[in-house]
Amino acid sequence: MSATGWWIDTLSARFHELPGVLNAGHSSGARELVDRRRASGGPRPRPVPLGRLIHSNRANIAAMRRTIFNEEHDMFREAVRQFVSREITPNVETWEREGIVPRDLFTAAGSAGFLGMDVPEAYGGGGVEDFRYNQIIGEEVQAAGAGGAGLGITLHNDVCLPYFLSLTTEEQKQRWLPGICSGELITAVAMTEPGIGSDLASMSTSAVRDGDTYVVNGSKTFITNGINADLVITAVKTDPTQKHKGMSLVVIERGMEGFERGRNLEKVGLHSQDTAELFFTDVRVPVDNLLGSEGQGFVHLVRNLPQERLSIAVSAVAGAEAALGWTLDYCRERTAFGQPIGSFQNSRFKLAEMRTEIDIAWVFLDRCVESLNAGELSAEEAAEAKWWSTELHKRVVDTCVQLHGGYGYMLEYPIARAYADVRISTIYGGTTEIMKEIIGRSLGV
Ligand SMILES: Cc1cc2nc3c(=O)[nH]c(=O)nc-3n(C[C@H](O)[C@H](O)[C@H](O)COP(=O)(O)OP(=O)(O)OC[C@H]3O[C@@H](n4cnc5c(N)ncnc54)[C@H](O)[C@@H]3O)c2cc1C
Repeated sequence: MSATGWWIDTLSARFHELPGVLNAGHSSGARELVDRRRASGGPRPRPVPLGRLIHSNRANIAAMRRTIFNEEHDMFREAVRQFVSREITPNVETWEREGIVPRDLFTAAGSAGFLGMDVPEAYGGGGVEDFRYNQIIGEEVQAAGAGGAGLGITLHNDVCLPYFLSLTTEEQKQRWLPGICSGELITAVAMTEPGIGSDLASMSTSAVRDGDTYVVNGSKTFITNGINADLVITAVKTDPTQKHKGMSLVVIERGMEGFERGRNLEKVGLHSQDTAELFFTDVRVPVDNLLGSEGQGFVHLVRNLPQERLSIAVSAVAGAEAALGWTLDYCRERTAFGQPIGSFQNSRFKLAEMRTEIDIAWVFLDRCVESLNAGELSAEEAAEAKWWSTELHKRVVDTCVQLHGGYGYMLEYPIARAYADVRISTIYGGTTEIMKEIIGRSLGV
């Protein structure tokens, strides 16, 4: 299998049983694409008219055409969409009640080729470094109204994997990457502590060197995938006399003595996502589990945070798009005073404003994705994308609830769940205020 053809081969092999797109001639279409690509020396971005990207709820929405995806991305999107409608959508209600997704979701995503798309094939990944594939997964779970259920996968792919790719030794790669790609090893990143969040360098979880182990003591909180995780990238202080320069990253593994999980925290929204407290009491972590260099933990985090923030921004704009789609449907059907509520000038103006802002957001976001792919996305640009997109998402969802009237407050309507889910997005991954600090500082003021 070629590195570039991995997912098309995956689609042909693993999705042949799916009805519709993948069964109706796309396998041969996929094969042609692979052949054409092989002949031309690999994939390259080229603008392909896509029309409306996000399914059902975008029907009849006059959205601006996006130009960063090519046919391969379109086919990947179709496969993700089928996966979401088959594996996630039918189970969301159960998972929301249970407060967690099953580990099987990760192995299903892994065997479908939706984990570790950018991991070299030698370690079980797709071998394609292109964030647009990650972006598509984030967009599709939002389009299906399954942001809570999908968050664990996007965190695994977009946030945790870069650490395992860029900071690991050959031995660590062989030990961890195949399981991360198959979904048998679920990942999390633990920075926040009960006493600190934004002021990360003041964290206090300690790692004291003793022979060939670090002895770790402390606790973390609000950790996404906290219950399901097998590998926890943990920010520790190896030199408590220093702030930034005293930080390191170690991987704490399921089953290590002294590593305990606390409650699966009860949240306002994102109910199917497990978010937990983690406790470390004299956990002996082998020095072989150090990620990158001792004392460079803060630098490693800063290098990886732009991709995390862009991932959150992608979900935010896709979530806003989905909310607008549900609301347009509702505004066409619901009548008051003998006319569809969407035909009132106030409703039309609100809908027009949201359409405009979402289109503007896509343009900026897609540009940021291109920059990330080119290795050029700056911390400031990622901060801009994060704060502006998540604030937009929050504003859009609030307006959409208003347009739904009382039904917008009923959980059987997806907009109500979105209302609860969206609130955290301007807080996690760095608050709006911290994003503005990052941007403001770069302005020399
Ligand atoms: C559902 C959920 C999932 C999460 N997942 C993870 C995870 O996987 N891993 C992880 O490590 N963390 C995770 N977090 C933690 C999250 O990243 C933090 O909550 C966030 O960074 C804010 O930190 P804090 O809660 O300590 O708030 P604080 O830092 O205490 O901030 C409180 C308020 O003060 C403001 N503030 C702080 N400093 C400044 C400043 N210098 N200037 C202006 N205003 C300021 C903040 O903007 C905020 O409004 C998660 C949180 C939640 C709720």
